[in-house]
Amino acid sequence: MEEQGKRRRRVRVVLVPWPFQGHINPMLQLGSILHSNGFSITVVHAQYNSPDPSSHPDFSFVPLPDTSSAPDFTGEIVASIVQLSTNYKACFQECLAQVMSQQGSDEGIACIIHDELMYFSEAVANALKLPSISLTASNAAHFLARSALVQLKAEGHIPFPESKSQNLVPEFYPLRFKDLPILEKLESYLALVSKAFNNKTSSPIIYNTIDFLENSSLEKIQHQWQVPIFTMGPMHRIASTSSSSLLEEDTSCLAWLDKQSCKSVIYVSLGSVAFMDIKELAEMAWGLANSHQPFLWVVRPGSVLGEELIEVLFKEFKENIDDRGYIVKWAPQKKVLAHVAVGGFLSHCGWNSTLESICEGIPMICRPCFMDQKVNARYISQVWRVGLELEGDLERGEIKRAVKKLMVGEEGEAMREKAKKLKENVELCIKEGGSSYNSMNRLVEMIRSF
Ligand code: UDP
Repeated sequence: MEEQGKRRRRVRVVLVPWPFQGHINPMLQLGSILHSNGFSITVVHAQYNSPDPSSHPDFSFVPLPDTSSAPDFTGEIVASIVQLSTNYKACFQECLAQVMSQQGSDEGIACIIHDELMYFSEAVANALKLPSISLTASNAAHFLARSALVQLKAEGHIPFPESKSQNLVPEFYPLRFKDLPILEKLESYLALVSKAFNNKTSSPIIYNTIDFLENSSLEKIQHQWQVPIFTMGPMHRIASTSSSSLLEEDTSCLAWLDKQSCKSVIYVSLGSVAFMDIKELAEMAWGLANSHQPFLWVVRPGSVLGEELIEVLFKEFKENIDDRGYIVKWAPQKKVLAHVAVGGFLSHCGWNSTLESICEGIPMICRPCFMDQKVNARYISQVWRVGLELEGDLERGEIKRAVKKLMVGEEGEAMREKAKKLKENVELCIKEGGSSYNSMNRLVEMIRSF
């Protein structure tokens, strides 16, 4: 028995994250889950946005040679994704062959788990006769909506005129045309979707989602894809708690939160890649100030177009708000959301942020920017009913009204109650016998069987 245990510890899983915070987090969480189940972990990563090996001392980290420029979310995202994949394919194969040649005779790579955006990994795994599994960092509803884009284009539904933007997409309730995860260069995006995501192989797929949240989308995926799927969310709750933050967390905000009353603070963050211009920043600032609600606001370096003007703007603003607001460059978000003083989250609705908020029973104001965020916002507000959408141009009066509605209004109270129930359900899913717990065990068994 002990001998068998020793052999198991020598089975290695190679992880290939996409080099962005919202993708690195679930991949390293998955690594922690697999490591605690006896697997050795190697993370093959880009040098750009490199994860910090000291946060995961039990993992091996192998940087890929730096052949790509960093993907640029203010520029052409599709071209960046394709370029990154093309550039990394050859060096990934070399690097993997090297990892394989260095392993002892009693050690083996069981499989490669790659972010779905690092789709070149599957071809490399095939060439090396290794099984591969794809990890989807967004949710199942987005996965389905994205996969339908090619068909929607073929049927003439997209691109769509402005007059149609509020119409529901047939068979995709609650999504309206404006919520579809379309990128600006539609043709090249659809080519990428066909090549990288709709290309149905036999590779299993892991979702960082929870069965009860996305039952109907998951059933459709299972029906259309016919591959093993694993719903292991929320992985940050199943994994041990190491942080994988690329930016330094400013923990001073926790002491500020300690001084605020229970459920009084609105936490504001647009995640790791969304950005706004200086005018929107000013509207946000005065909307928060005029709400008279305490707020904790993350203004990430590089997230404001016209950043050089922030200081001037914040000078007058900070005089006005005294100690009622606290601004940081990067927050320990999971701890913030778990703090008793926090009662609401104004979010861009990235999938990690959405899950983290749901796990803590915190209702949301949804301000999605692009990609899956618009899909998530619709599910938060229309299906799970734990948030309200802040639509149109950012305007201080609208922000103030949304904050008041969520934090002190009856509607907000009802959302808080619903969020509390979701939190309880999440707890059941990650406990022994729960859906995510069972999914995790199925995944572990499958990898052991490779
Ligand atoms: N995050 C954080 N501190 C911050 C803002 C964000 O730790 O000040 C984390 C957050 O907890 C989440 C991740 O960054 O895990 C952002 O991922 P998400 O999917 O929400 O959005 P993305 O950044 O990919 O748009």
